[in-house]
Order: sequence, then structure tokens, then C-alpha cells
Amino acid sequence: MEPCEKCNEWVYDWDNDCSPGHRCPPLWLVQCPKYDDEDWDKIYAQDAEVAAEKFAEEHDRNYSHTMMGGETIVVRVRREPDDYNSREGLATAGLDKIWEFACNGEAIPTYYATEIMIEVKDEKDSRKTTDD
Ligand SMILES: [Zn+2]
Repeated sequence: MEPCEKCNEWVYDWDNDCSPGHRCPPLWLVQCPKYDDEDWDKIYAQDAEVAAEKFAEEHDRNYSHTMMGGETIVVRVRREPDDYNSREGLATAGLDKIWEFACNGEAIPTYYATEIMIEVKDEKDSRKTTDD
């Protein structure tokens, strides 16, 4: 099993043999106007919301995890035109649509308990022996 070179999703071996095979999810253009209103990142995702989440995850990893500290960023998502045309033919409806998402994250603290073996003096037993 290897990740697809284009979309990075896991591709199962049997996709090549007996099934129609792997098809990359739609390609989206995503940007965060607050930080950069020129460039749009290309992201493969099942839908616009997932594209926004993937962008937010990547953004937060690159900018010192400010979103885990409570920052919300607004991102814009739209379809990548070439990918859209290859799937929808000549249809243009939906191509101009821009979605906006408020993205935030959270760091979930995790706690662990591991039993420590300690020796306990059994006082009852020692009392018993003196009563006998
Ligand atoms: Zn793919």
C-alpha cells in the first residue's frame, strides 16, 4: 500500500487489479485572506469543508500552533478550474462559487495512569500471629 503521488491518499494494491482503481478526490484552491490574498494552495479533498480543514492543519503546523492556542482563521475555498472541467465537462455552474469557513483547532490533553507495584505491610497478619 502506497500513498498516491498526486493526492497523498492511501492506495490499496487491489485497486490496480480487479477494481476500477484509485481516483483522486476533487482538487480545491484554498487561501487565508488574513495572511495571503494572492496565492491559493491546491488541496485534494472530498469536499470544500475537508479542504478547509486540511489547509488549517497545514497552516497551524507552519505557524507555531496559534490555532491550538485559540486563534480562528477564515479561509476561502473554491474549485480548481482544470480539475473541475475534467470532471464536469463544459459545465461552469459552481465554478465561481467561493466557500468561506471559520477554522479553529484544539489540543486535546491526554493523561495516563500506570500502576506502580508497592510493598504493603500486612498488619492484620502480624497481629494474628501474636494472638495465637
Ligand atoms: Zn490520488
